[in-house]
Amino acid sequence: MQKMEQMYEGKAKKVFATDDPTLCIVSYKDDATAFNGKKKGTIEGKGVVNNRMSNFMFQLLEKNGIPTHFVKELNDRETLVKKVTIVPLEVIMRNKAAGSMAKRLGLKEGTELLCPVLEFSYKCDELDDPMVNDSHILAAGFATKEDLDTISSMSRKINEIMCEFFASVGVELIDFKLEFGRTTDGQIVLADEISPDTCRFWDIHTHEKLDKDRFRRDLGGVEEAYAEMMKRIGLL
Ligand code: ADP
Ligand code: UDP
Repeated sequence: MQKMEQMYEGKAKKVFATDDPTLCIVSYKDDATAFNGKKKGTIEGKGVVNNRMSNFMFQLLEKNGIPTHFVKELNDRETLVKKVTIVPLEVIMRNKAAGSMAKRLGLKEGTELLCPVLEFSYKCDELDDPMVNDSHILAAGFATKEDLDTISSMSRKINEIMCEFFASVGVELIDFKLEFGRTTDGQIVLADEISPDTCRFWDIHTHEKLDKDRFRRDLGGVEEAYAEMMKRIGLL
């Protein structure tokens, strides 16, 4: 397998083509952004954490019946994945109110929710990823009814698997973002990443934040929080 030309450079990762048209390589950077790129910085070693943690999570999910894009970790920062056409949705699952939901609904961060919340944003930087509902998605053709049903039920199952796993290592999963894509052979799979960049993790007992909110909100101890999450899941 040969690494070929760069297909895309995003805010946190680069994507490279390979000599196999069904596969690509994702390469995780230390660059950190927040507020749709308006705040920029570097989190030393983040690329390694996010690559290794994502791969660990994808393998855990695969064991539990969730199809993912993961193929093989190549090194600390690079992973071979199935090439997908990304469904242009950010799928957000929430277990407690935080971030934009807490703000929008006037709820204190950490407020219990009576059931998990499934939310969608249209993936479009120019529009600041606007929130959309099922009928916007179907009307605009961002996904078909069949794909949306698959994505919704997979997201709820992923939430159950992840909540249980993180609770077992003393971490509360507050909320997280997922992306899905269609492989060259037509299957909808979980893609992108699962990391402290894309999840809110709170220590179960102290409620200390162990995720990118430390960078977003200038709380300090950013690298330490990412390293702590690696320790919790047994990768450090
Ligand atoms: P952004 O585009 O938001 O700045 P990243 O820096 O994380 O995000 O860039 C990674 C890009 O690669 C994202 O647009 C993501 O949707 C896309 N991507 C993730 N997994 C795959 C995959 N398996 N195949 C093709 N593209 C992918
Ligand atoms: N999230 C993400 N990428 C985004 C937007 C959100 O990974 O572009 C994650 C974020 O880390 C959090 C969850 O999705 O775990 C919910 O984010 P929220 O809508 O509260 O937005 P934020 O507070 O990050 O603006």
